[in-house]
Amino acid sequence: MGSIALESVSKEFGGITVIPGLDLAISDGEFVVFVGPSGCGKSTLLRLIAGLEDTSGGRILIDGADMTRTPPSQRQLSMVFQSYALYPHMSVYGNIAFPLRMAGRDKASIDRKVRDAAATLNLTDYLERKPRQLSGGQRQRVAIGRAIVREPKAFLFDEPLSNLDAALRVNMRLEISELHQSLKTTMIYVTHDQVEAMTMADKIVVLNKGNIEQVGSPLDLYRAPANRFVAGFIGSPRMNFIDGAEAQKHGAAAIGVRPEHLHLSPTEGSWRGKVDLSEHLGSDTFLHIDVSGIGRITARTTGEFSAERGAPIFLTPDQTKLHRFDVTGKAIP
Ligand code: ADP
Ligand code: MG
Repeated sequence: MGSIALESVSKEFGGITVIPGLDLAISDGEFVVFVGPSGCGKSTLLRLIAGLEDTSGGRILIDGADMTRTPPSQRQLSMVFQSYALYPHMSVYGNIAFPLRMAGRDKASIDRKVRDAAATLNLTDYLERKPRQLSGGQRQRVAIGRAIVREPKAFLFDEPLSNLDAALRVNMRLEISELHQSLKTTMIYVTHDQVEAMTMADKIVVLNKGNIEQVGSPLDLYRAPANRFVAGFIGSPRMNFIDGAEAQKHGAAAIGVRPEHLHLSPTEGSWRGKVDLSEHLGSDTFLHIDVSGIGRITARTTGEFSAERGAPIFLTPDQTKLHRFDVTGKAIP
């Protein structure tokens, strides 16, 4: 079992409040992603859960038991960091076995667990190698292997893929998702990358300045962001925000329209603009369009779309997918 509950958890460092106080419930087996910009308190929150930092206020419950003052080693959680923190002089086998040796397990059961974890992570052929003889992705798998053998109630990942190149990140993202499907253990995963959050999470927690902006499934947050912060953070390219007279027509202080919810036409539409810049990805084209009276708008269209710079173009937003926000930035349902 691995349910985790945070009750009014707060944290300050030397009088500076980093987490003012938040509540969160994580169910056993859930894959929860904490996402938010750099410095918003993601690592701090994870470290509070792990017990690597003391809370300034509130309670942390694991499977219903108060663990707020319990040392990290007794919380039965395994943490995986961005820096793999492997022992360079030990083999892969030695690194994965390390926590079990420290716990005084017998040789046979250590061997079985290390080999099981290695098989799960495709490391069987590398058990005798040293970390320096491995790729970045393999090193991160060793770090995950070391976490697995402890059979924790939950895995805590802090930006584990940040040191990997883009292609490897996509691979490891899939591997971690598959690992979650096979282990079914609670996972809390911290990232600043909304794509990782969208692709991996059962539940996303969007953090901003130590506060929770919204909690929901990836598609909940995409379809119905609670405010401008979430609307602008989730989705790529970013949502377009429009204020002034155009927003007033919809009875809002601002409206938001995602680039993929704009229909493009060379001859007719709601808004007239000029193409500033085209980005060709092959699968998609992103057009940055200067719309008179509204400003710079990004539109996304699938496939190839050719438009000369400065060419007139018309945009029509899908009215059913418009987002409206009040003066405080809160979404108007
Ligand atoms: P994130 O992981 O979202 O990038 P962090 O949790 O690392 O953010 O940091 C949140 C804020 O807390 C930052 O402003 C950071 O400078 C501050 N902070 C983190 N750890 C400490 C510390 N040990 N002492 C003082 N300030 C800290
Ligand atoms: Mg961090």
